[in-house]
Amino acid sequence: MSLSLSGTVALVTGSSSGIGHASARALAARGASVALIARRQDRLDALVAQIQESGGTAFAVPADITERAQAEAAVRATVERFGRLDILVNNAGLMLLGPIVGGDPDEWNRMIAINQQGLLYMTHAALPHLLAAAQDDPRRVADIVNISSIAGRVAWANYGAYNMTKFGVNGFTESLRQEITKKHVRVGVLEPGGVETELGSHNTGVMREGIDTFYETTEVLQAEDIADGVAYMVTRPRHASISELWIMPTDQA
Ligand code: NDP
Repeated sequence: MSLSLSGTVALVTGSSSGIGHASARALAARGASVALIARRQDRLDALVAQIQESGGTAFAVPADITERAQAEAAVRATVERFGRLDILVNNAGLMLLGPIVGGDPDEWNRMIAINQQGLLYMTHAALPHLLAAAQDDPRRVADIVNISSIAGRVAWANYGAYNMTKFGVNGFTESLRQEITKKHVRVGVLEPGGVETELGSHNTGVMREGIDTFYETTEVLQAEDIADGVAYMVTRPRHASISELWIMPTDQA
């Protein structure tokens, strides 16, 4: 049995591309009004139009969520526009690979800023609204889905700083789950393996070559496969909470 999202409001970070884009469409298709958060406004505007053409409701909020004030303003704008917030999908992220020896601390900081700090700011700003929605119709339950990674479960050479950010997301998610689940805000982590998105495109040199080879030789997941997982997690009946969902390409060991 799955719950309709009619009458609910979802906020998806990183919805200008990849997994966030697909997840926003999936939640809108199930009846949620969706706030779209990312920096590239043209992409968000195009997605609003696409969702509206399909009969859904969406609203673009351009924001750099590594800036705490912008993250807070994005949540505020969503609640002002739609009156509530039921579902937060913390998806925005960055993966810059490379050895730690001789690595670039500025790149590590950029990953920490979006993968961890942005997620913390959004969660903190959203929680009062999610706790209120969990007491209210139509579902009397609310959801946080944190998009982590297989890199939050398994460490590899050259993934060190990215591994650190995603292992951190897993630990934070489990801690918050224990803190608030009994208040009917469900908190779950979704850990994808390789998905065809723009994620690898920010890398250069030998790291980019390795990523490109992986994608050329592996039948990877599509963003819609992960969006299906997000939709599954947030449409469970009120008494069922999905704490963890690990989705891998069949082709990737
Ligand atoms: P994309 O690069 O396609 O999407 C990343 C999204 O994050 C973009 O929409 C980008 O939008 C947004 N973003 C980045 N920085 C900021 C910021 N400062 N403020 C607001 N939004 C920001 O990659 P994916 O869709 O693959 O990545 C989504 C999540 O999935 C990430 O957390 C990633 O780690 C995770 N993941 C991806 C896997 C894969 O194989 N693709 C595997 C496992 C996990 P904009 O640039 O417009 O701001």
